[in-house]
Amino acid sequence: MHLIKISDSNGQIRLEFSGCNLKCPYCIHIRQPSKEHSLEEIVELAKNSDSTNVFLGGAEPTLQKELMPLMEALHNLGKHIILKSDGMKPEVLQEVLPFADGFVLELKCPLEDVEATMELTGLSEKRVHKYIDMLERSLQISRSKWLRIWIRVIPEYVNMDTIPRITPYITGATEVMLYQFLSNPEFDIPFKGHSSPVPPWDELEELGKYILGTVPRVVLVGEKGKVVMEG
Ligand code: SF4
Repeated sequence: MHLIKISDSNGQIRLEFSGCNLKCPYCIHIRQPSKEHSLEEIVELAKNSDSTNVFLGGAEPTLQKELMPLMEALHNLGKHIILKSDGMKPEVLQEVLPFADGFVLELKCPLEDVEATMELTGLSEKRVHKYIDMLERSLQISRSKWLRIWIRVIPEYVNMDTIPRITPYITGATEVMLYQFLSNPEFDIPFKGHSSPVPPWDELEELGKYILGTVPRVVLVGEKGKVVMEG
């Protein structure tokens, strides 16, 4: 299995896989080097760890051929597994459903905005239509478990004008995490002329308050750390 990073701290093992089926122009992860680790090696690491939680993220974990046996093995070890995905492979989410305790799915902008989605994913118009369809199916599947919708707030695409068109897709989620773009140098690279954290924190809070009308919990993440808002 190809991994960018493995870490184990604060009760959580994080496996960051390499490779993605999208080509987001602000993504740092698809440009990072990776290293091969065997399934057995990862399971052994988990067996010898006191951490109960496992986060499978990266770039895109659903592209790993051995994801299913890995999740089954981790599940059998009693680990609590959260799987992050861009939603492009709903059939994989369906397959691993019995072993997943929760999902994190990324929403980038209102899904019906094809042009914005093309800019944000680096996909052709034809592939964008497929992506939207797949993501809608993935949202449907993952709502049966704990679900965090992760939104990277790039102000040209996620703002008080567009958020009413995003909220229908977050209905049924356990929580929404709003990430202030460029606030973590390990997550993204400059895009659209932005080279420091955007939008301002008060705008992130305003978006959070709006979203609380749809989901019970919003988590803001950015230069002010992590702030939980509850309805
Ligand atoms: S931002 Fe997410 S979906 Fe986009 S290329 Fe990076 S890992 Fe893939």
